[in-house]
Amino acid sequence: MSSEKAPIPLGSNFIRAIVDKDLEQGVYASRKWAGSPGDAAHQATGQPDPAKIRTRFPPEPNGYLHIGHAKSIFLNFGLARDYNGVCHMRFDDTNPEKESQEYVDSITDSVKWLGFGWEKTWPEGNKESSLYFASNYFDFMYRAAEALIENGHAYVDSQSAEEMRINRGTLTEAGKNSPWRDRTVAENLALFREMRDGKHADGSLILRSKIDMASPNINLRDPAIYRVRRAHHHNTGDKWCIYPMYTFAHPIEDALEQVTHSICTLEFEDQRPFYDWLLERLAEAGLLAHPLPKQYEFARLNLTYVVLSKRKLIQLVEEKHVSGWDDPRLPTLAGARRRGYVAEGFKLFTDRIGVSKADSWIDYSTFEDCMREVLNINAERRIAVLDPIKLVIDNYPENQVEDCFAPNHPLKPELGKRVVPLTRELWIEREDFMEVPSKGFFRLVPDGLVRLRYGYVVKCTSCEKDADGNVTVVHCEYLPDTKSGTPGSDSVKVKGNIHWVSAQHAYECEVRLYDRLFKEAHPGEGDRDFLTDINPNSVTVITAQLEPSLKDAKAEDSFQFERHGYFVADKKDSVAGKPVFNRTVTLKDAWQK
Ligand code: ATP
Ligand code: MG
Repeated sequence: MSSEKAPIPLGSNFIRAIVDKDLEQGVYASRKWAGSPGDAAHQATGQPDPAKIRTRFPPEPNGYLHIGHAKSIFLNFGLARDYNGVCHMRFDDTNPEKESQEYVDSITDSVKWLGFGWEKTWPEGNKESSLYFASNYFDFMYRAAEALIENGHAYVDSQSAEEMRINRGTLTEAGKNSPWRDRTVAENLALFREMRDGKHADGSLILRSKIDMASPNINLRDPAIYRVRRAHHHNTGDKWCIYPMYTFAHPIEDALEQVTHSICTLEFEDQRPFYDWLLERLAEAGLLAHPLPKQYEFARLNLTYVVLSKRKLIQLVEEKHVSGWDDPRLPTLAGARRRGYVAEGFKLFTDRIGVSKADSWIDYSTFEDCMREVLNINAERRIAVLDPIKLVIDNYPENQVEDCFAPNHPLKPELGKRVVPLTRELWIEREDFMEVPSKGFFRLVPDGLVRLRYGYVVKCTSCEKDADGNVTVVHCEYLPDTKSGTPGSDSVKVKGNIHWVSAQHAYECEVRLYDRLFKEAHPGEGDRDFLTDINPNSVTVITAQLEPSLKDAKAEDSFQFERHGYFVADKKDSVAGKPVFNRTVTLKDAWQK
């Protein structure tokens, strides 16, 4: 795998080229759509499909969506939008274990948050809602399995799992036919119905397709299609004790939904021959009609400094290495949202990394840069002192409050200015004062001049320290004629410019400084346990002094805290009049080597 950092040209990709060609050749022009998923007979009653193409986003509701899923969401929903098609939001819930309503809800939330939906009104006024659950197709899947049996394309195998594994062969050796492969159709049908009726123990019998045990593609060596599994299903309850295998279920789901382009990640490439084999057999049986869906594969997103495996994400949550699925350090979309990453930034990111068939790693900084670019345009500026020490302007009147004017956005003058109050006692950043300055330090130093941003030039006079020698208070005097925006502001030249907040007016507030959750680019690389790569400093909670207007920030409002980075009012812990802030991303990448 290569490391990919340079932006790739936006726009086309190989999948779009395929869609263009299919549309040009009218490959899908004859398709009918009866308004809902169904078999050939059902669709035949419909109108020509108003959707030029149909794609689908098919998560299994067994976890939260992550940044990798966003790539698939923008690809599938984006194609449908751009080609006047429909993208189906499909929950691939055919596996009864590990699936839950909590996951269903979080997935729908995240897809909507990224800006997509599944309600469509066609120009003729027909409405379509394309939210589907694969488990609603269990009846058809069962019927399809019986049809395969009836046509001699499937058989019930009594081998143990171990025997099947041995007889499957290897990459270099053909497999061996099961001794049960030649059961009669009647026997297979009877056994399969007994499986359905609960007459056989879990794992004792399995329905397999009958293809070729000598195929060089191991996936065609009589792959399993139905297994006995007594498990409660979140949608169908205890109706079934047999469940279809994923590789059997998925093509059928696509076909019933009249999907044209079924886009998945590269690891399914070797499954494509079975996908085609199965749908052809069901078309021969009259259950499906041509044109059938086609599968295309693209490279999944691999991102440095995060883990995108559901198993690892579940482990992080369950073992409480993070506070929950929406912990702002997690690459889940729920976490990303709380972190302050924005949907538009995801769009820029997915455009920039493109879609290809070549596996590669994307550097996390590419993702962060996209968020910075979008936030730079969209986020208003505010003043925040994160590590406060006092600055006292000794020659400033004690009870005076003076308005200073700070622009809300340097690139958008139309957003105007806001008032920040100046008083005798201010908060400034600890790092903006040095008693013994290092070379090139142009901020506050004894006897030095500096501008209080949007205010006056001040001259540092002295400082106070505690018993340990830490500076607690800095003293200065202001030069009354130098206020920013007045004619005298240029009368004194200064090299430094520091930000400040009136101590009397400041909003004292909890701020969480988030950093990367992993300190290694490839967590768990080699034999390392990925948990040992957790960054011990991935969050620091501080008490900051913010300009008073930030008190009114609403949950999910994003700001640039000048000189610090982008921050968002936390979605979960903010209350009206008392927001808490999360650092989304710093202004510059601190991880660059
Ligand atoms: P599982 O380990 O449970 O199979 P998964 O990440 O494949 O997890 P799904 O719920 O099956 O999760 O994924 C839904 C869709 O998102 C699939 O079509 C899959 O191809 C796509 N997808 C998942 N991970 C990525 C990724 N890293 N990059 C691009 N697409 C992804
Ligand atoms: Mg999957």
